[in-house]
Amino acid sequence: MPGDSVKVAVRVRPFNQREKNAGSSCIISMSGDSTTIKNPENGSTKMFAFDYSYWSHDSFQENGEGVFTPRSGSTKYTDQRRVFQDLGQGVLDNAWQGYNAALFAYGQTGSGKSYSMIGYGPNKGIVPITCEELFKAIETNKDSQKQLQVSFSMLEIYNEKVKDLLVKSKQATEGLKIRQNPQAGFYVDGLRNVPVRNYKEIEKLMEQGTVNRTTASTNMNATSSRSHMVITIRFNQVIRNAGGESNTRSSDINLVDLAGSERADSTGATGDRLKEGSAINQSLSTLGNVISALADIAGGKKNVLVPYRNSVLTKLLQTALGGNSRTIMIAALSPADINYDETLSTLRYADRAKKIQNKAVVNESPTD
Ligand code: ADP
Ligand code: MG
Repeated sequence: MPGDSVKVAVRVRPFNQREKNAGSSCIISMSGDSTTIKNPENGSTKMFAFDYSYWSHDSFQENGEGVFTPRSGSTKYTDQRRVFQDLGQGVLDNAWQGYNAALFAYGQTGSGKSYSMIGYGPNKGIVPITCEELFKAIETNKDSQKQLQVSFSMLEIYNEKVKDLLVKSKQATEGLKIRQNPQAGFYVDGLRNVPVRNYKEIEKLMEQGTVNRTTASTNMNATSSRSHMVITIRFNQVIRNAGGESNTRSSDINLVDLAGSERADSTGATGDRLKEGSAINQSLSTLGNVISALADIAGGKKNVLVPYRNSVLTKLLQTALGGNSRTIMIAALSPADINYDETLSTLRYADRAKKIQNKAVVNESPTD
């Protein structure tokens, strides 16, 4: 569909313990689709409009088992289910129609990216709920002319190297190779792509992948905040027609938990860690440059080169950015005054992403 713009949601989380201890004040407010941030130094405000502004800061109740829901009588706290209904359900509807879809989470470390995407314990995020709902819908399919296939892959980009998160064994330190072909664009050579028959199988793979992601480093937090994680769900519908021939309608759903957006220079990194930081900056800053270039193109600027080739992340996300995909970005926000600079930069980033126009088309061709 031409003129499909990237949908952008922002979500603000509760204070964490550190922010509470620091006696932080909340500098984010939301009303309808608009989000306002207040500069704690001079009280000036900036307002942004997004497709969705999700308030998950307060007005929630916790049931003693760590599950967050809106406080009774309050509709203000946006829970995981609601985020799925607004964003994940659309991804699924698109997948059935044969469109590619991508959903990615952006924000500084600790802002709530993984909470929204994967979730913690009983607070399942968009990725598991989407997978669960996909299989619920598949199980009700009674059309014997339609064969449905789902497969799952999960990778990490760390230091501009690709690691397969579904492979336990020690992998070559140079990482998997990225190759290009005229039809599929960029892809990861040798990445495991596992056929799955039900939600439980996906859940197992996701757990395995999460363990592989965190145990790769002695410092758990360092890895997950500096690496990008990409889950791809490939959904194929093999549809047999009256003549006995069949067409395959396919959709790739890319779900991306990005590395923390904080700048390497603000972490005081040195030596190896600096190298790591700058390599991550290479993927994230290239993502920023790609988004800016696409926003310029959407604004009518001519002869703009989109620098997809400058990083691993933007090669792999090429179709999701300005290409054949329906794309959603969730920008995760800290509510606290101490994070003003980072949160403002996240809002500006999200504001630019909003301008990107994609060209999603249905993927359907004779089954080979
Ligand atoms: P990130 O992945 O961006 O580094 P996390 O998703 O791990 O950050 O979130 C940091 C902390 O904040 C976690 O303890 C998480 O449970 C909590 N949190 C994040 N978003 C929410 C939310 N919407 N509601 C309740 N708690 C949240
Ligand atoms: Mg995270």
